[in-house]
Amino acid sequence: MIGPSGPEPKQSTTPVCEILGSCATAPTAAGAASSYLVRSGSGHVLVDAGPGSLLAYLQAGHRLDELRGIVVTHLHADHCLDLMAWAYRWTFPRALASIPLFVPGEEVGRLGLFDSLFGIPTLPGMERPIFQAWEIQPLELDGKTWIELDGLRFRAYAAHHSVPSAALRFETDRGQVVAFSSDTGYCQGVVDAARDADVFVCEATYLDADEESLVGHGHLTARLAGGLATEARARQLVITHLSDPAIGAQAVTDAAETFRGPIHLAVPGMVL
Ligand SMILES: [Zn+2]
Repeated sequence: MIGPSGPEPKQSTTPVCEILGSCATAPTAAGAASSYLVRSGSGHVLVDAGPGSLLAYLQAGHRLDELRGIVVTHLHADHCLDLMAWAYRWTFPRALASIPLFVPGEEVGRLGLFDSLFGIPTLPGMERPIFQAWEIQPLELDGKTWIELDGLRFRAYAAHHSVPSAALRFETDRGQVVAFSSDTGYCQGVVDAARDADVFVCEATYLDADEESLVGHGHLTARLAGGLATEARARQLVITHLSDPAIGAQAVTDAAETFRGPIHLAVPGMVL
């Protein structure tokens, strides 16, 4: 953590966020791909189910019946590939109580392709594992529609990425705010999602990249992540989704050029 001259973080006695996995693209020796928990009233909400996330969740000592909902920011594999692992575990050997699974509304049809590939017709509870395990809820990326979920409320904003991508703003009933950029280029939707957030978890895929990667496909450098955090007046920045774990220290240094508050590098097990 750096940033001694930045604004004081609001001290919260209750952690709101836990990092399960922070890798872009796929797991590395450093841990799982994108996956996070937000503390809810009686359990927690999973944000993204990148490969390795189910193992990370269980090895962190969490139980499946503590999960109150799942939100997938977008349907790229490093954010959703473990959904089928979670759904198999959810439906076999016996079905757990259903919880909501939120995905960007335009992507509900594509979500069904998982079940087409991996459903098991000879096991009645697993013919369409994802749609049988959970209540599928389409997310409006309008920055307006609040969703109430176990002592939390959250809403989704349109991030800028090559597929529909949801930046997320969660507010607890204790007034804490945790925001997630999803995968994105620099855009107003993410600024709005992270406005005055206590914890802003923001992708920082690159140290440097060309226009096509940042604006065309839609990603951020660490400097751009810091700029977003400053524009949003976030209190703490957590940079995540680095393209290579080896660039972590430099990414923190770069982000500090554009954000003067505390900066953390997301690592599995980190609690904020
Ligand atoms: Zn990604």
